[in-house]
Amino acid sequence: MSSAPRALISLLTISLAIGTPVAAQQDRAIALVGGQLLDGYEAPPIHHAAVIIRGNRIVAVGPASDIEIPPDAEVINTAGKTMMPGMVDAHVHIMILGHGDYADWFPWFEGRDDLVYETSAKQLLAAGVTAGVDLAAPMSSLAFRDRVNANEVPGPRLLVSGPWITRYAWDFLPDELRVLHSSPDEARERAEMLIDAGVDVIKTWIGTTEEDMRAIKSVAGPAGVPIHCHVYEEEVVWGAIRGGCDVLQHAGSGGSVPAYSDELVAHIAMEGIPVVQTIAHRIWIYPATLEFPERLWDPDILDSFPTEIREQVLSSYTKDDFWRRPYFSSTPRQIRNSEKAARQFIDADALMAMGTDTGSPLNFHAESAWREVSALVDMGMTEIEAISSATKVSAQVLGLREVGTIEPGKLADIIVVDGNPLFDINVLGYVTDVIKDGIIYKRDGVPVWEMSGMRTSTDGS
Ligand SMILES: [Zn+2]
Repeated sequence: MSSAPRALISLLTISLAIGTPVAAQQDRAIALVGGQLLDGYEAPPIHHAAVIIRGNRIVAVGPASDIEIPPDAEVINTAGKTMMPGMVDAHVHIMILGHGDYADWFPWFEGRDDLVYETSAKQLLAAGVTAGVDLAAPMSSLAFRDRVNANEVPGPRLLVSGPWITRYAWDFLPDELRVLHSSPDEARERAEMLIDAGVDVIKTWIGTTEEDMRAIKSVAGPAGVPIHCHVYEEEVVWGAIRGGCDVLQHAGSGGSVPAYSDELVAHIAMEGIPVVQTIAHRIWIYPATLEFPERLWDPDILDSFPTEIREQVLSSYTKDDFWRRPYFSSTPRQIRNSEKAARQFIDADALMAMGTDTGSPLNFHAESAWREVSALVDMGMTEIEAISSATKVSAQVLGLREVGTIEPGKLADIIVVDGNPLFDINVLGYVTDVIKDGIIYKRDGVPVWEMSGMRTSTDGS
């Protein structure tokens, strides 16, 4: 950074007060100055850049030498680092957080909805995820969404599905996670109920037939509520598409699914049907944990849990050998098949959003996003494509038109990572600063809620 302008250097030496109450930060200007800027497009970076935020909007972007820093701005020195849009996760779960055994987790979760949601939301935000869609949680997630979106608690901008619609009641999952139906008419009624309750999207789960999908679409379509479909097998994917599914979730990451036909992949790519494959928790996270079980004791993960949840999570991995559990019985095969499908979608240039299934076993919110982007690069995306997928494309797929890129007029959701992700994508795991809606939520590697004077109900106060 030796070529940074002189005026810039003096600005960067200003010592900055931190720990200001969150609400007060909305009124001032914030200037992120000095680092490389990736704006979310597949475009070359701007070097030694500056981004100016006023209120919750981005007002100026460009080389720092061309940008006037407002005198009242709080300056964040990003020299030597990279500024980019906050990541948008197109498949999150705030009611789970990496615990290894659903049979133990869900009984423990009962009555602790808000504690768990708040923990998940903070972990995601600190990891650089500034927006996401939750795809299965009790109805209590709707009220939590409203609190996060009003900036009353830290977390990504949230869209929520509430309970998923399914024909199956899997034993381990609590009743409040699903609404059951046994006919297309009932499926339509369930969808109507959820839409009336205020969900942002509909999530369909296993067993949803093409006729069910059409019935759901008949109410969701006119209401402008997109349908996210949990699909694996080729015929199920075709049925979902014909029935009006808007976003294919998990497609190409299931154990019993070998490569898709060229016809299906070409159709998905040509029609621009969004795919959220959620590959990292198979391709990356399971083998990474087998090879290096020490990662379960990573302080960056463990310390982000309140004590009582930390003990629950750790005990789920120390009580026995996790890889012998039924949940992981077909994982090695899933890994091999997921790799094939990922390459098919990437080679066909399908519209691929970044989604993680974050919160599933081993899949911690504190690291799910960077691992998914890293897996997309391993499977053949360039670094800039994968970053654009995780920001601009994911925002577009979720209908969040005001985020996902850094440009004047957009909402100010920006993260700073320590290094150059175009050289090593894994630096997305080193998020030093997070701004969402013009509010600084993480500064120099420390979330504001861990700074003195910032307490929320998660602290047990
Ligand atoms: Zn999921």
